[in-house]
Amino acid sequence: MNKFDQGEFVVTAKSVKKLNTKMNRNNMIKYSPSELDYAAKKCQRCFYLKKINNIELNDFPPPVFSSFDVVQQAYFKNYTTKDLTDQLPMGHFMKKDELPGLIISKELHDLKGRSFILGGRPDIVIKFEEERYGIIDFKTTNISPTKSDNYKFQLEAYAQIFTYPGSTKTKKTPELNPITHMGILQFYPTEIFDHHTEECELKMKMSYSPLERNIDEFYEHITKLNDLLYSERLPEFNSECNKCNFVEDQNKI
Ligand code: SF4
Repeated sequence: MNKFDQGEFVVTAKSVKKLNTKMNRNNMIKYSPSELDYAAKKCQRCFYLKKINNIELNDFPPPVFSSFDVVQQAYFKNYTTKDLTDQLPMGHFMKKDELPGLIISKELHDLKGRSFILGGRPDIVIKFEEERYGIIDFKTTNISPTKSDNYKFQLEAYAQIFTYPGSTKTKKTPELNPITHMGILQFYPTEIFDHHTEECELKMKMSYSPLERNIDEFYEHITKLNDLLYSERLPEFNSECNKCNFVEDQNKI
């Protein structure tokens, strides 16, 4: 239960009006879990422009990373958690027919009572024995034992969605509670060990990085993001970013 559910906070008429004006999204800020870590931390100005003005750089990661995700998920979907790591209890990966593609939360509230919703597509949802659940995201990346810390808000956002599920126009998100385990399964290419005409066999190192849940930290983070987005002030340029410096330099010509 978050603090708003405990009756500690209220949404004021002023804040709703401001939300209507600035968000124009059915009175609700919608966050995708995948934007809550890197994008939110990288540059406040870019995050503000994306969420408020719908302006973004569209510099997506190379598509090969999502191709890795697709083949990794396709390969592992019929295995169990014990085939991935000995750090997880026995569990199976929930199938497409057990979950909608897009999962969405009901209306949630930050620590100042402002509404928001969460919506996204998790990589892997696990059902453990005794009605407990887990969330894993696959990343092709440099291996690090603390990698999951880089994705802590994304993972907790999925946990919040399943704890407080909502509905899209066509599908209801199921309640999966409690979420007892979260983490990142990392893949890193190490060796090509065979090849044939037009293809090769690639070996990838795998390593699981677990994450402890921290719900308070998640709501503090969302509250700070809402502070930013409710502000009338466009944040300053990040002077270390080459892209904005490039534009600024052009403006001097
Ligand atoms: S400084 Fe870089 S990251 Fe920030 S708004 Fe400009 S382009 Fe975006």
